[in-house]
Amino acid sequence: MIIVLLGPPGAGKGTQADKLAQRLGMPKIATGDVLRAAVRDGTKRGREAKSYMDRGDLVPDSVILGILQDVMTSPATKKGAILDGAVRTVPQAEGLGVTLAEIGKKVDKVLLFEVDDDELVKRLSTRTVCEGCQTPYMGREPGTVCEKCGGRLVRRKDDEPEAIRNRLEVYRTQTEPVIDWYGKNKMKVLRIDADGPVDEVTARALGALGK
Ligand code: ADP
Ligand code: ZN
Repeated sequence: MIIVLLGPPGAGKGTQADKLAQRLGMPKIATGDVLRAAVRDGTKRGREAKSYMDRGDLVPDSVILGILQDVMTSPATKKGAILDGAVRTVPQAEGLGVTLAEIGKKVDKVLLFEVDDDELVKRLSTRTVCEGCQTPYMGREPGTVCEKCGGRLVRRKDDEPEAIRNRLEVYRTQTEPVIDWYGKNKMKVLRIDADGPVDEVTARALGALGK
């Protein structure tokens, strides 16, 4: 089963993707994580993506479609995948559809995580993430240590106020049209209220998936 997660930055897609991956026994594929790893490793893809990411802009569709092509044809996603933040423009939705059709697959479910703007800004501007394993933390200062891997917690560059505003704007203009696109292509978008405790949101998502 291939599940696409949609929702604004700060809606908790990453956290929910981890929970769903665990519960459903499928890998989570987060293009943000793939890109940050590429930046760290200094690959061609990483060098191409870095400046976009630091500003909170989307990286070019060609880069994302290259990643999706690699990932979806790899043995790791043979039984399915949870795609976190991997579809942020209409051309990406179209391109993913084409890539999957070529290997006899399709997107099976689309989940949309919804949260108010005020709450999003609050979440993003107060979160830190582990430099090592990328786990996000709320209410923990930069420089303290990750419980999972001992890595250092840092503020993501794109969680600075200016970049946050830009990411929300980019979401409205470029990603929201993806919701209608799936609707028009006969794919029901399952809306999840993403406000509230993490486990409650996970339960809502599993409910929407019929699990
Ligand atoms: P967030 O969900 O908070 O935006 P991510 O870690 O998912 O954070 O993504 C970080 C950055 O990586 C994005 O702001 C964007 O620059 C880039 N990125 C990730 N996925 C995509 C995508 N599908 N299309 C374009 N850019 C992407
Ligand atoms: Zn860690």
